[in-house]
Amino acid sequence: MSQHPMPPGGLPSGEASRPSPPSSSSPHFAPLIQPDLADLYSRRAARLRMLAEGHDQADYLRLAARVAEVQASLLPEAGGSGPTGAMLQQGHWGFLLDRLIERLAPDVPAPVATHLAALRDLPEKERLCTAQALTMGRFDAVPAAIAPFLWAALSLQRASAVRAAPVPGSGPAEHASCPLCGSAPVASLILTGDRQGLRYLHCALCESAWHMVRAQCTNCGAAAELDYLSFDTTEATVRAESCGVCHGYLKVISLERDRHAEAVADDLATLALDHAVTAEGYQRTGFNPFALPA
Ligand SMILES: [Zn+2]
Ligand SMILES: [Zn+2]
Repeated sequence: MSQHPMPPGGLPSGEASRPSPPSSSSPHFAPLIQPDLADLYSRRAARLRMLAEGHDQADYLRLAARVAEVQASLLPEAGGSGPTGAMLQQGHWGFLLDRLIERLAPDVPAPVATHLAALRDLPEKERLCTAQALTMGRFDAVPAAIAPFLWAALSLQRASAVRAAPVPGSGPAEHASCPLCGSAPVASLILTGDRQGLRYLHCALCESAWHMVRAQCTNCGAAAELDYLSFDTTEATVRAESCGVCHGYLKVISLERDRHAEAVADDLATLALDHAVTAEGYQRTGFNPFALPA
């Protein structure tokens, strides 16, 4: 890979010269979106199963799909009643984790079942420490084999809680991390429909999405040294937006190019792109709950 990592298609897409998306002053504009969780989990599961076809990580993509399905099935138990709801119910994620393990266990391969059983039997104190490490971004403190399941329970609780609370007013500031829960994004999405062409960052924890103008670095805000990298054509659905100023990158996933694309699913199915871009010296500025950094 030379200046642009992925020949033959790894060229800048001319992002800055594209026609302007609808103005953020349009009546459909919202600085913050909270997708309906049942719909989101169901779209994510379907997309993961679709992307698993012929994929060399097919089993893992199907496991992630099953996790999303179980998260959906647990929504009625996720709570989140008013501003002092599930967000403040310390330990409710622990209840959700037990339910998640119970429902996943019959459907997973034997090695995964072993990890689930270990997680189920983790002493309360240790479980709490592990969860705290995860939410504080100390991913290296948590075994990779159990982290995605813990995260799924924590995320389900937080996502339900932020939807039960009033949406806070949001100023014009553009955030590198989630304005609701402080987590880093999974990826950014270019939307369609009423929000055609607008870019939102999808939160890895509370599953909300916040607006950010296109053609600027989602990490440092610089626009001068952006590059768009992909394995195939410049019209690829998933590209890495890399920044020569802060040397960070995050993927941009275009629903204009594939309306079935979904942040967590499409990001997880394109980890090979991450390997190529990090080999070029860029650091990922977000993370995927199913592929937490070591
Ligand atoms: Zn969030
Ligand atoms: Zn930057």
